[in-house]
Amino acid sequence: MLIRSIETTPVAVPLTKPFKTALRTVHTAYAVYVKVTCEDGRVGWGEAVPTHVITGDSMGSITYAINEVMAPQLIGLDIRQCEVIFQTLNRSMVGNTSAKAAVDMAIHDLLGQLAGMPLYQYLGGYCKKIETGFTVSVNDYTEMADDAERYVSNNFSVLKVKVGIGDISEDIARIKAIRGRVGSTPRIRLDANQGWQAKEAVRAIGLLEDAGMDIELIEQPVHADDIEGLKYVTDRTLTPIMADESVFSVQDALRILQLRAVDLMNIKLMKSGGIHQAIKINALAESYGVACMVGSMIETKLGVTAAAHFAASQPNITRFDFDAPLMLAQDLVAGGIVYEGRVIHLPELPGLGLDDARMGLIGKEGDGGEHMVLRGFGGDSVDVT
Ligand code: MG
Repeated sequence: MLIRSIETTPVAVPLTKPFKTALRTVHTAYAVYVKVTCEDGRVGWGEAVPTHVITGDSMGSITYAINEVMAPQLIGLDIRQCEVIFQTLNRSMVGNTSAKAAVDMAIHDLLGQLAGMPLYQYLGGYCKKIETGFTVSVNDYTEMADDAERYVSNNFSVLKVKVGIGDISEDIARIKAIRGRVGSTPRIRLDANQGWQAKEAVRAIGLLEDAGMDIELIEQPVHADDIEGLKYVTDRTLTPIMADESVFSVQDALRILQLRAVDLMNIKLMKSGGIHQAIKINALAESYGVACMVGSMIETKLGVTAAAHFAASQPNITRFDFDAPLMLAQDLVAGGIVYEGRVIHLPELPGLGLDDARMGLIGKEGDGGEHMVLRGFGGDSVDVT
């Protein structure tokens, strides 16, 4: 099972509604799909997305990393010696975690196919279906309450509310408006996306606790580099604190866990550089008694399918944040996970469970969807607010 070729295809899909956080506003989901073909014709798929403000990766850097740096080192290696592949991949470049993640997903797709098992079973098979929450973008109070009400009426029981923009009194007012509208039953998680200072976060969280807002957890209250700030917040609040942008690598996780700087961690394949490293981060967190969530960037169903296989395989992964494909106006991906409201069913086909024949048409003339494939991607429409 030697790797014969590695190819990339850039794609773009509009969102049904702009996605707004403390870091950015997104109107269009951009991605690079990677196809790894073996000598026997077997194909594995992966996805990388350019999240400039979090990973530093762009469409151009991902495409260059895969085609010019990673592919020449990986072609000819044997899938049955996957540790050689992952070592080569991870040593090929510093950073570039999204490009690494895409190749890693494709290798895992092939490993599952070789084993004749769906990837989630190959990785441990802990559960065959999971549930996702839905994200409420930052807007004015009424619009956020309207959105929250609509998601709850569509049977989502967990809302992830974006905060961290403007004065904390505005954030408090946003949460009160949402809680007032949806009542006490839905679980509410907050994600400040690094938007608060440490003392500001303690004050905001204290006010929310005093107001009885019943917040399940708070993601990344302070800047990604401010690990002491994370610990400051965790030590002074009762609401569980989760690290997201602060944890990319196993080394990041180790430092945070040793300091006991958070209660929970959010693992994303675009940050870890794929499943191979994500498994190590989760195992390390588990040994410290820290449960993990697995989430995604604004990714299409391909990347989220890979993340869902990993997330479903492990008991220490207790929360799932996989609403990104539901925000897209179109689904490019043939096969993969199946959404039934908030429930995500893992496919029972080997590997990621994609339809190779139909996936192979993406980007080809006459596929009916070529308008969604970028022919040039100089003009990223991702605005940073
Ligand atoms: Mg987050």
